[in-house]
Formats: sequence, structure tokens, C-alpha cells
Amino acid sequence: MIFRQLYDHTSSTYTYLLAERTGGEALLIDPVLENTGQYIQLLDQLDVRLVLAADTHIHADHVTALGSLRSRTDCATAMGEKTGAECVSVRFNEGEKLCVDNLHLDILYTPGHTDDSYSFVLPDRVFTGDTLLIRGTGRTDFQNGDPAAQYDSLFDKLLRLPEETLVYPAHDYNGMTVSTIGEERQHNPRLQVSGKQAYIDQMNALVLDDPRLIDIAVPANRSCGLKHAA
Ligand code: FE
Repeated sequence: MIFRQLYDHTSSTYTYLLAERTGGEALLIDPVLENTGQYIQLLDQLDVRLVLAADTHIHADHVTALGSLRSRTDCATAMGEKTGAECVSVRFNEGEKLCVDNLHLDILYTPGHTDDSYSFVLPDRVFTGDTLLIRGTGRTDFQNGDPAAQYDSLFDKLLRLPEETLVYPAHDYNGMTVSTIGEERQHNPRLQVSGKQAYIDQMNALVLDDPRLIDIAVPANRSCGLKHAA
């Protein structure tokens, strides 16, 4: 498998490039508009063909590259059914798969950070979006965030994956790149709670500033980033 973890410094976003083989099909997860040129160059250098770009959810802190990648490569663009984004060519649901050649990523619906958050699962790794971060979890105070739903997504879905499953989140603000389900279960401070109500109380007690780009990014991302300059 070809796998690359790419980092956007401005928004601390991770973008993932996956392909089964050289000369084959490629998938980008959570690409950032400003890095479109870098992705195109890397895809070319690795000799893979972008067929699909997918977002784990509507982001509030950066503009997606889904639209720009589709314009430049003719790839399909995908977001979950719950996004309501009219701009994508594929809308996925839990239980379906994202496929490039013989790589098949299982789709889990993991709401809580937003009501349109999904995770993508391979046998050895999971792309958790902002549902499960390394030693943290995604905030639940906007975009229909819901700490109770997030608790269920974490404890009933993601933490039920095998302990050794690698965790690749959509962001990290502390220089961490990868974790495992077992490591997060043991060391993630947000997960050391006695139950659902304790988790809800913990999340509701957080006092956070809005992301700098929220008023620009959210509407832009509803149109795959293509109208961001308007
Ligand atoms: Fe987010």
C-alpha cells in the first residue's frame, strides 16, 4: 500500500493519500484547498491516479480541496449523506465502502463533533476525522455538535476496534502524528470518564474560541470549496 500523511501548517490539518499500488488508483482524505498543487505533484511523482477525494465532515477551520481536485483531475468527490452538501458526486452512508483498486475502507458514521462526521476503517488503521484526536476529541459546540452522540461514536464504535488499530486523526496541534486505539483508551484524558453524563459535562464545560475561518470555511465547504472567494 502507498500511504502518505500530509500536513497543512495553517490549520494543523492532516490529509491522507492512499493507493494500493504504483500505477493504480488513489484516494485523498480531507485535502486542503491551498495544497492542491502539492497533491497533484505528489500524485504524479508516485505514479498514482486520483479517482476519489473525500472529507470526513464539513470542516470549520480550512477550505476543502474537493472542488479544486475535481476540476483538475476529474476525480469523484465524496462526503457523507448527512452533510447535505450538494456539490459532491458521491454521498456515502455507514456500512458502505470507499474503494480504490483493492483498498476498501469501511465507513462508520461517528457524529458528535458535527452531525456529519464519519470515520474510514482499514484492517490496520482508522481515519477518525475530528471524532477521536490523539489525546483529545473534537469539540462539540457548533455545527450541530452533540457530546452525547460523540460519546456513543467513541465508546460504541471507535473504541471497539482492535487495540492495535492505528489512529490517524484529521488534526493535531501538539506534533503527534499517529496513535492506536489501545493507547487512546488508556491515555486520552477525555476518555477517562465514568459514563456518558460525565463525558457530556466535560465537553459542555469547555470554553473555546471559534475557529478563525469558521464564517468563511463552513459555507465554502458546503460547495466543495469552489465558491470560497465569493
Ligand atoms: Fe472539524
